[in-house]
Amino acid sequence: MGTGQLTIDLDAIAANWTALDAASGSGTETGAVVKANGYGLGAARVARALAHAGARRFFVAHAEEGATIRNALGRGPEIYVFSGHMRGDTDMLNDLDLIPMINSIDQLTRHIEALPQAPFGIQLDTGMNRLGMEPGEWMALRDVAVPRNPRLIMSHLASADEPESPQNRAQAKLFRELTAGCGIPRSLSATGGILLGPDFHFELTRPGIGLYGGRPFTEARAVAQLDLPVIQSGTVLAGETVGYNATWQAEVDTPTATVQSGYADGILRALTNKGSLWADGVECPILGRVSMDSVVADISGLERVPHELSLLCPEQGVDAVADDAGTIGYEILTSLGSRYARRYAGRAG
Ligand SMILES: *Cc1c(COP(=O)(O)O)cnc(C)c1O
Repeated sequence: MGTGQLTIDLDAIAANWTALDAASGSGTETGAVVKANGYGLGAARVARALAHAGARRFFVAHAEEGATIRNALGRGPEIYVFSGHMRGDTDMLNDLDLIPMINSIDQLTRHIEALPQAPFGIQLDTGMNRLGMEPGEWMALRDVAVPRNPRLIMSHLASADEPESPQNRAQAKLFRELTAGCGIPRSLSATGGILLGPDFHFELTRPGIGLYGGRPFTEARAVAQLDLPVIQSGTVLAGETVGYNATWQAEVDTPTATVQSGYADGILRALTNKGSLWADGVECPILGRVSMDSVVADISGLERVPHELSLLCPEQGVDAVADDAGTIGYEILTSLGSRYARRYAGRAG
């Protein structure tokens, strides 16, 4: 038996894309970010579902991820690579028709020398100080880059999930100044930026987390369900403890169930004595430390021992788990383990 079943609703992903496309406005195209194996949910199936929904431009973190998407989608859709043109990427970019988002003068030089006819995009740093050309660097290169017709100029918002942050407007203003008169399609917003409104949409948006059911797109349909088989049940007697280092002690006799998944499957150890599993709409608190391959839950709220307990289910989405673990939905999704049996539901993929 596997360590659990991860069910991925491709129709929900397609519906979330359609909703974010509508929110991006009629004059704006909507791409799709499928980096990190489609936020942990399976890049090939996810990308096909998104292409089916209407996405034509896809974004990945590096060239190898782009290769997976190209194999899944065939020729046609554009695939952009956030890390740009790294040493060693040239053949893959060229053979698979991937578009590097150039983020430095070194990369621009490398690209023009190695693949003078190949398309590219430009990534600008408007305040995140993570990736992209600094404003001064870009102004020096603009007259070299723009005549070569980049497919896209993009930047990334640092605080888009905080609508009140003045950083959002400051970045949008700088982006507008840096790209004025270029005549090249621009993209600033991921999921959070789409929700900030039309001033942030430009010609293309690039949602990721919202497609997969995560905040800040609170109206998203849930995408992932994770059911974990119960491998043992019993009663922990008053005074006994559960798990490594005995961090939980029973005050009364407590019926428990042990599921066959643990932190090696992405059930973060931070859920120790904090998170919950669910069955039949009943919350079953996690008792003691999350182990590598197992978790113990309090099933005293249930009438009988269930066949499985769920970590992700209608009652508990990725953000609720993230809150319990002190992290964000992105980390919950991208941590989902490789040992789960994955089942894809819906017709979209
Ligand atoms: C991850 C990422 C996105 C998608 O962001 P979400 O918050 O998941 O919508 C868009 N652009 C860049 C540059 C990214 O790194």
